[in-house]
Amino acid sequence: MGKSWEQLEELQPTVLKMLKNSLVKNRVAHAYLLEGIRGTGKREIALLLTKSLFCEAIIDQYRPCEECNNCRRINHGNHPDVHIVEPEGLSIKVDQIRNLQVEFSKKGLESLKKVYLLVHADKMSVSASNSLLKFLEEPNPGTVAFLLTEQPQKILPTILSRCQILTFHPLSPQVMIKQLVENGVEPQKAPLLSQLTNSLDEAQNLNVDEWFAQAQKIVVKLYEVLKKNPLEAMVTLQADWFSHFKEKEQIHRGLDLLLLIFKDLLYIQLDRQEQIVFREESERLRQFALHTSGRRISDQMSAILDAKRKLERNMNPQLMMEQLVLKLQEGSSFV
Ligand SMILES: [Zn+2]
Repeated sequence: MGKSWEQLEELQPTVLKMLKNSLVKNRVAHAYLLEGIRGTGKREIALLLTKSLFCEAIIDQYRPCEECNNCRRINHGNHPDVHIVEPEGLSIKVDQIRNLQVEFSKKGLESLKKVYLLVHADKMSVSASNSLLKFLEEPNPGTVAFLLTEQPQKILPTILSRCQILTFHPLSPQVMIKQLVENGVEPQKAPLLSQLTNSLDEAQNLNVDEWFAQAQKIVVKLYEVLKKNPLEAMVTLQADWFSHFKEKEQIHRGLDLLLLIFKDLLYIQLDRQEQIVFREESERLRQFALHTSGRRISDQMSAILDAKRKLERNMNPQLMMEQLVLKLQEGSSFV
């Protein structure tokens, strides 16, 4: 079953308020462009509105009942008048749009309504875009289009101008934490995930990812060893880090985690405990925070950000990490 109106309203209050108004006032547009980064609820909200349009027992003129035959078939992806088009391979091809047009030239199978969703609408080929444009220029009454995209700048302006644009904002960390916990993520783990991604799906995947669990341990270990002498830190890099963080994306993830440890130390010093994300390590981090200064922590954070920039410029990752570790150790007194 899809998420309820109330759940999605928490994710995207502005968008849902607008859609509610259109439904209640019977002013649903012919075409909507839903734009926003991954994981912001575009597809779920497009399907929610689709249910509102087809629902046989609509509540307060806007909320789908989730129980009638139409709601259930939309949730199961088998309503004959609801079509979802996604890229085949790298793009949405002209034939996919033509098939849609043929389909839509027939009357709705069960009513006059028809809805289509174009997922990753920015991936339409030029001929697909032109074909869609004609379709949008002569909308059939009762037809509603949802174009979903993470990259609205790649969509033809002539198409944009025929759509009502709905902007989906990234989830705030608070909303993200709440949603993660509702989806079964341990409350101790949700804050860290909420800092690493704006996508609920990605956060949930990370939560059960073995590589990620191990990555956190290695990062904490590296942090601890920074207090020791440079040789030991290099040994840890060789023994644990390089074999785990191989791809560029993985190294970025590792550096992001390391950055979050320093951020936590800063929060501890500022007495903003509720902001700590490494909850499971918070006792140990409190001890560490006693032995450093805010100034030093912010220098260390700049060094990590600098390392991420070097990585982007394709510096050798091994060299980059060694330099970073030495930099992070500057000013500490080795035993
Ligand atoms: Zn219903």
